Amino acid sequence: MTSTQRDLSASQANDPPRDLAFPPFAKSLNASGDPLTGLASRTQFTDFLAGSLRMHGDSEDSFAVVLLDIDRFRDMNDRVGPAVCEKLLCLMAQRLRTIGRSASLVGRTSGDGFGLIVRDASVAVEFAEMLLSFLTRPFAVDGHAVTLGVSIGVARAGLHGREALELLHAANLAVHDAKRSGGSRVRMFDPSMRQHALNLHTLETDLRAATATQRIELQRALIGHQFELHYQPQVSLVTGFVTGFEALLRWRHPERGLVAPDQFLPVAEDIGLMDLLGDSVLRSACTEAASWPVSGSGRPLRVAVNVSPTQLRNRGTLIEALRRALAETGLPPERLEIELTESALVEDITSAMLAIRDMGVAISLDDFGVGYSSLGRLCQHPFNRIKIDRSFVSRLNEAAPSDVWNAGESMIRAVVSLGKALNMETICEGVETVDQLRIAQRAGCAEVQGFLIGRPCLAKDVASAVERLGPASLHEWIGHE
Ligand code: C2E
Ligand code: CA
Ligand code: CA
Repeated sequence: MTSTQRDLSASQANDPPRDLAFPPFAKSLNASGDPLTGLASRTQFTDFLAGSLRMHGDSEDSFAVVLLDIDRFRDMNDRVGPAVCEKLLCLMAQRLRTIGRSASLVGRTSGDGFGLIVRDASVAVEFAEMLLSFLTRPFAVDGHAVTLGVSIGVARAGLHGREALELLHAANLAVHDAKRSGGSRVRMFDPSMRQHALNLHTLETDLRAATATQRIELQRALIGHQFELHYQPQVSLVTGFVTGFEALLRWRHPERGLVAPDQFLPVAEDIGLMDLLGDSVLRSACTEAASWPVSGSGRPLRVAVNVSPTQLRNRGTLIEALRRALAETGLPPERLEIELTESALVEDITSAMLAIRDMGVAISLDDFGVGYSSLGRLCQHPFNRIKIDRSFVSRLNEAAPSDVWNAGESMIRAVVSLGKALNMETICEGVETVDQLRIAQRAGCAEVQGFLIGRPCLAKDVASAVERLGPASLHEWIGHE
């Protein structure tokens, strides 16, 4: 940071950057800065960028644009409400103002996005990394510590764009790339990101085409059209028998082949198709499960259906969809389970969950151990089952130094005993090795799911998976040295 570099947030805009030799229209920054945060507005940011590009865009050692976006802000908004979110945005702006003194301009470029112009492009990534570690420290809001994830994209003036909008677009693509890789990271723009964005765009067009025609009929017959459900077995660690299957959606694209849900569900979410797809999944899973055989233990098999936060947001519709699916397919409610992730747990969700449980449908907490997992939330909501996330399970390895795997095993033990106290069963997801299976069993986990037990299969192969899995297969794994 040098003394010639300053923050030009709108609150300081009366103080134009004479020493920066950056464009003169910075003088007008105080005209209409962002009213919430006092930083430069998007228009001011873009104008300043355009002027800077005219002055410096061609030079070898040009400047860089750093864009940042808060991860899962929409979920946060639903969970804690807009008032707390506004406070968070102001606190974030305050931090940016402090650290942004080494930048030429700090602005609010979107609802939950900020931008900085960094004078020396050669240190922009380093600067962005520092920004990341500073911004992901907890914020104190109304007596609570809140930690945010932030995705950051960097683009170099001239090299990655000669026009303001082109450069902003490049930085934005880098932000999206950071988000796709899990968030809370920095990415420098790379031209391949343009191709990826184009692919996503075609995917979106295809998805619209695959679902837009005859919307009402499709609602009934979407699955089987270009979409299909695969079922992954879940096995009891006590008996070795299959207890149920998780329904996992796939898109059989005419040219691309089988497309994974992680690729198209966010697109479906963005274009408002999630309710339609979710309803079809529910109906098809119930229809298919209704004709499954009983498990080797003689108990009926459960079918677990993933429910997205969007579906849950519209609770009345979801409860109605559950009722209709059960009534129309004849599936007994106790054979159905829905999986919710923590991001779906908005404050007043408990009554909807109780209504679902009153129908006899079970609810599991998916992906426990990642994201915003909190024990508090676990205690507050009436779950039947906790699914320990596969990223957590994949760290379990008996060959690892004992303190490492002991720690992993201890954590599973802790979740299992908390589950017992709350009357919730525990299932380990993503079990790929015999080691992981043994550790899960030793830790008292009731069930497991993962590639070791079985990959997701078509409904027609459910019966053979039920036959294949049982006490003998469990004994073979556990007894295997
Ligand atoms: P999820 O609910 O955590 O589902 C488990 C994912 O882990 C599945 O990926 C499954 O194939 C994969 N998996 C299972 N065992 C293993 C293992 O041993 N190792 C590894 N590496 N992976 C394993 P898939 O089918 O690609 O689904 C990804 C995510 O998409 C799901 O994560 C779920 O969040 C979402 N999803 C899938 N189907 C639906 C759906 O019908 N509705 C909604 N809302 N979301 C869905
Ligand atoms: Ca799931
Ligand atoms: Ca999961």
